Amino acid sequence: MAPRKKVAVMTSGGDSPGMNAAVRAVVRTAINMGCDAYCIYEGYEGLVRGGDLIRQMHWEDVRGWLSEGGTLIGTARCKAFYQRPGRLLGAKNMVANGIDALIICGGDGSLTGADKFRQEWPSLVDELVANGDFTEDQVTPYRHLNIVGLVGSIDNDLSGTDATIGCYSALARICEMVDYIEATASSHSRAFVVEVMGRASGWLAVNAGTATGADFVLIPERPEEHDWKEKMSLVHREMGKRKTIVIVAEGARDKEGQKITPTEIKDLLSDTSENGLALDTRITTLGHVQRGGSPVHMDRMLATLQGVEAVKAVLEATPGTETCFIALEENKIVRKPLIRAVQETQELAKAVESKDFTRALQLRDREFADSLKSYHITTNVTVDDDKLPTDKRMRIGMINVGAPAGGMNAAVRAAVAYCISRGHEPVAIHNGFAGFARHHDDKPLGAVRPFNWLEVDSWASKGGSEIGTNRELPEESGMELIANLIEKYQFDALFLIGGFEAFHSVAQLRRARDQFPSLCIPMTLLPATISVNVPGSEYSLGSDTCLNELVGYCDKIKQSASATRRRVFVIECQGGRCGYTTVLAGLSVGASAVYIPEEGISLSMLHADVNHLKEVFNADKGQSRAGRLILVNEKASKVYDAKLIASIIREEAHDRFESRESVPGHVVQGNNPSGMDRCRAVRLAIKCIQHLESFGRNAHNRVKTDPSSATVIGIQGSEIVFSSVKQLEETGTDWPNRRPKVAHWLEVRDVVDALSARPAYPKPE
Ligand code: ATP
Repeated sequence: MAPRKKVAVMTSGGDSPGMNAAVRAVVRTAINMGCDAYCIYEGYEGLVRGGDLIRQMHWEDVRGWLSEGGTLIGTARCKAFYQRPGRLLGAKNMVANGIDALIICGGDGSLTGADKFRQEWPSLVDELVANGDFTEDQVTPYRHLNIVGLVGSIDNDLSGTDATIGCYSALARICEMVDYIEATASSHSRAFVVEVMGRASGWLAVNAGTATGADFVLIPERPEEHDWKEKMSLVHREMGKRKTIVIVAEGARDKEGQKITPTEIKDLLSDTSENGLALDTRITTLGHVQRGGSPVHMDRMLATLQGVEAVKAVLEATPGTETCFIALEENKIVRKPLIRAVQETQELAKAVESKDFTRALQLRDREFADSLKSYHITTNVTVDDDKLPTDKRMRIGMINVGAPAGGMNAAVRAAVAYCISRGHEPVAIHNGFAGFARHHDDKPLGAVRPFNWLEVDSWASKGGSEIGTNRELPEESGMELIANLIEKYQFDALFLIGGFEAFHSVAQLRRARDQFPSLCIPMTLLPATISVNVPGSEYSLGSDTCLNELVGYCDKIKQSASATRRRVFVIECQGGRCGYTTVLAGLSVGASAVYIPEEGISLSMLHADVNHLKEVFNADKGQSRAGRLILVNEKASKVYDAKLIASIIREEAHDRFESRESVPGHVVQGNNPSGMDRCRAVRLAIKCIQHLESFGRNAHNRVKTDPSSATVIGIQGSEIVFSSVKQLEETGTDWPNRRPKVAHWLEVRDVVDALSARPAYPKPE
């Protein structure tokens, strides 16, 4: 029988939140796939030194690691590994431990080292034989080394991937800090210069700037074309703001390639000479807090799914396979050639060095360039350069429908900013279709009114819905009335932000076009709901915020469950008849089981899970401190709710362990939206208005025949697409259950089960 494969994982370079989740996923997936799992402690240092720094890992060793920040297996910068003798020692330790597959989670340096190691491997093995360390027979099974990279870095600085493990946690930390700073800046009418990490990458700065609505962002890849000092002096407070926030990446440069320091910016803003701005300016260097803390949901998810994929990749690799790393494209996890990404990253650094900023930007992924553009659109609203000719300018109504979701305000703000920059007239319809329908002209603050940019500009980080939202559908409000109002206000297009009700609203409006010609205007929906149940998109605004809240809640409950040791918490999750939130939260907290409406709950399922819990608690004689969580969607079953499931478990446990239910309820809608929801809101909202803009005014005839005149914008795999509502209505929607027919995330449920060793259970009929 062939020896079991031995798969080792290490973390290297700077630590980043999510690395532990990656290690957990690799260890458990390797075990599930019949391999022995190893951890190499202290990065390449451990590989070179060997001994106790290379340890076999068992299932229980990584329990509770999902929520831990940093890296529990340590990391180090290892000088020896830069040289061949160091790598030879590494090879010796690998062969001595029988390790034939290596997964490295680190930044571009670590991955460069990994690629070099793999390239040299055959000659290193030859040298080990020549030196007499091993015989030819001993090395025969190790003639080929498989390596796969996972990108762990808060900087998001590797070309070829939209995100690196840890970048979303760092972004979350920065947004949280800037949100705090904003309040004090505004109170004292001060300016703040906030320096963020990122080294040669401006990703954190651009996204933090977009998410917080910062006035100025300075990054390495794209310096201001003109003198940044001049520009900063010009744009400052032209709109009468009470605060100024400048975000500067630690590697920021001017167009001459000179480094820009926070002190320089402060000196400029606080200059009291005759033409100076004379602002009371403070510098905040966020420093290492950006690296710290528990990883956010997105990093846990990325790390887990990528860790699983890395094990598959490393086991599938053959001597002919190019070394790959696991990347993210929008919503899709993909394998990509490692060396190309490393080369492009190095080329990027050189392009910045040689002031070839166009090339530098090309070498960043599409999402980065898009985000940068979005940031500029939402900050330079009053610049006249991009305005359309008067006859192409549109009057665009904006409306929120359904429950509030994090990012709705950021989306409205971005859409308004884009409209202003193009010369369109954005108009707010307050309180959904209900507000629209009950609107009276005699009310000075009626339901339909223009936006005031100064007010809207402060909405970037706000939760809830500033223009108000309502669940009522147009047919409930009266379709004729709605059609008349659209005509009365001469809307050329409608931009909707909301959940399933918003989707239903567009469907109703579209169907009523034959009857009411005023509805023959383009309309597009940006999904915003914590349930992620809008057909046409794998993501909706607010879902990331909700998952972060839910994951934080579960972490706290888990701590309590761990403290009392033998306790299972059954947590009820929102999400309507869509199990997305339950499954994704389950992935991020390591749930023992998840119950979802798509599958339902049966007695035999509960029986299997209760038996599994009994086995787990029997085997665990109190040494494991981690509590157990079961997540159940609010509509998973008409009978078995969280309370009943907890009671069943308690009854069946016969005092060997305990069980409690817990319902976080509306808390999961969150307060301030997550940085990711805010950034995606901005990007997607701008694309929506651009889509509407492509129809122009008086597009009635085209609208009647063009299916793209009523659309949903969505992330589907690695693409952002506009899907026709007609088509989605007819073929993609499970109307009775108010969700898409196909649940794109269903396979994630299998990962949750696999990583918690949930036994196979009889599926409900
Ligand atoms: P971060 O982005 O957080 O700094 P990184 O992986 O880029 O992470 P580095 O310090 O560049 O961090 O690299 C980590 C380790 O990887 C180094 O200490 C060294 O051991 C190894 N390494 C880096 N570059 C090479 C190289 N060119 N050849 C061999 N080993 C390398």
